[in-house]
Amino acid sequence: MNPSVVGIDLGTTFSLAAYVKDGHPAVVRDEGGNALVPSVISFHDDGSVLVGSAARDRALSDPDHTIFSVKRLMGRTLADLQKELKLIPHQIVERETGDGRKVLQVRIGDREHTPEELSAMILREVRKRAGNPTKAVITVPAYFDDSQRQATRDAGRIAGLDVLRIVNEPTAAALAYGLDQKKTGMVAVFDLGGGTFDCSILSIDDGVFKVLSTNGDTYLGGDDFDHAIMELVAAEMGVDLGQRNPQLLQELRDQAEKVKIALSSAESAEFVIGNFRRTFTRAEFEALIAPHIDRALEKCRNALRDAELKKTQINDVVMVGGSTRIPYVRKRVGEFFGRTPHTELNPDEVVAIGAAVQADILTGGRRHMLLLDVVPLSLGLETLGGVMDKVIQRNTTVPARATTRYSTSADGQSAILLNIYQGERELVKDCKALGQFKLAGIPPMPAGFPQVDVTFLVNENGMLTVSAKEQRSGQQASVTVQAAHGLSSDEVDQLVMDSVAHAHADFTARRFIEFHNKAKADLKHTDKALAETGDSLTSEQRQTVNEAREAVIAAMNGNDVEVLQDAVTTLGKVTTPLAELLMNSVVKKALAGKTEAEVNEQKI
Ligand code: ADP
Ligand code: MG
Repeated sequence: MNPSVVGIDLGTTFSLAAYVKDGHPAVVRDEGGNALVPSVISFHDDGSVLVGSAARDRALSDPDHTIFSVKRLMGRTLADLQKELKLIPHQIVERETGDGRKVLQVRIGDREHTPEELSAMILREVRKRAGNPTKAVITVPAYFDDSQRQATRDAGRIAGLDVLRIVNEPTAAALAYGLDQKKTGMVAVFDLGGGTFDCSILSIDDGVFKVLSTNGDTYLGGDDFDHAIMELVAAEMGVDLGQRNPQLLQELRDQAEKVKIALSSAESAEFVIGNFRRTFTRAEFEALIAPHIDRALEKCRNALRDAELKKTQINDVVMVGGSTRIPYVRKRVGEFFGRTPHTELNPDEVVAIGAAVQADILTGGRRHMLLLDVVPLSLGLETLGGVMDKVIQRNTTVPARATTRYSTSADGQSAILLNIYQGERELVKDCKALGQFKLAGIPPMPAGFPQVDVTFLVNENGMLTVSAKEQRSGQQASVTVQAAHGLSSDEVDQLVMDSVAHAHADFTARRFIEFHNKAKADLKHTDKALAETGDSLTSEQRQTVNEAREAVIAAMNGNDVEVLQDAVTTLGKVTTPLAELLMNSVVKKALAGKTEAEVNEQKI
């Protein structure tokens, strides 16, 4: 075995590689036949670093120098990590780089490492086991945003890999089952791993996959089942889990996991720690995890709703993740979808196998297909008054491209600052800032004259590039967003739910801002017209215009959008004669010296 290209499943708890040889996929195993590399790293005083099972074994004796769950830190900022910080027993700091970007650093002993470097250590180990291939396809959860994907790509690069593509885990799983061979259909992928859960709905159309929706919980998985057992045992033993005793915690956790795994094939299992012994039955275990499974199925319901599908429209259910070995999980998922889920392939290996198939396709394998995914949250720009102008809508298939034309709001404006946001709400203050850039060097023109085309491009890896071009001058600028803040699928859910809950209020607020912007522009034009041709108005007309003007100003200071709209409409009506006068004078000026006949012709 010496493949030049591999597929890698870089998991929160375990990672592994697979490859395709002569059209047949296989996972990479060590001498003992193990494919799974625990995603654990341990650091030693002599400077050596252990990765995998050896590191995991060290966790018990040296928790301070061992790190788990690095995947949760990828592409995130300190502000994103409030939940994670409690669970990671290491100091995490944020440092500013030379170019002003912020990077996370995990302190382990007296050393600091970025999450990318730590993930690279895991990737390097996986790569070494596969005989040091140079190219790889790496998988990420479907809900990973731009910066989390970028961080994964960077980790691959640091590990010496040419990352051919970042592929969504559910897409890889469906590919491993060869579901692309079906002409059309709908697939649900149920991925219950160690720490995370997600359910994705894919469509297959002419062998082409598309992620229609994804939903899940970044804190739901096998760890919770271990925890449920630990809590029960701790209560029975009379120990307080809240007390900081890493050693005892780790032993309890190890025993709990052993019992859990044993119960997947046996009807009962023994929990042994010191002198303490306790028998767990399968029924007891099922009762403990039932609430968690209910929660997971609730997420599946949400995913179906987002994909606008009924359970009965799903043709295949694919099981992914070590925790789907639990018979009770299989039973509940089967009941939920009303069909037997696919469990023929090893649930720990399907993602890596799918990644290998994709790698094979990309490097000239026989199968041809595109893998399509979706943008998890809408992407847009801030416009006048803090309004979120969505350029690419949520759940749009990637690669996605959309262009919107903007202009300047002030005369002679030579630069535009473009603020990029992600979110579902109407105002940018309720969305997440992804980054900004400036389009400078616009030649002086009156407000509204420059034509700035802003293009959003999300590539097949989910990376966002925003570019802007002023059409009259050809001036352009662009940015690839990597400052994106990580969002868990829960947060995505929450944001979407918020946008629904606030839909009415947000819409009203947005309308108010838009009328406010219009009112401001109209007032400016009215004042200009009054100054130029106001003398030609009758005093009655002048009074009406002034009253309308005052009403608009009062409404702008108020908060009732209907009142503002009425005031703006009225101002528009009463200034019509003024506008006509202005037009005539402009036309007269422009055509000065021409004959009446010519003027009339020009008017037509
Ligand atoms: P991830 O993708 O999050 O890295 P995995 O999909 O590899 O995680 O799943 C790891 C989880 O699966 C762990 O919680 C582990 O205890 C659990 N697991 C593995 N085998 C079994 C089994 N036979 N029965 C129950 N749980 C299992
Ligand atoms: Mg996984």
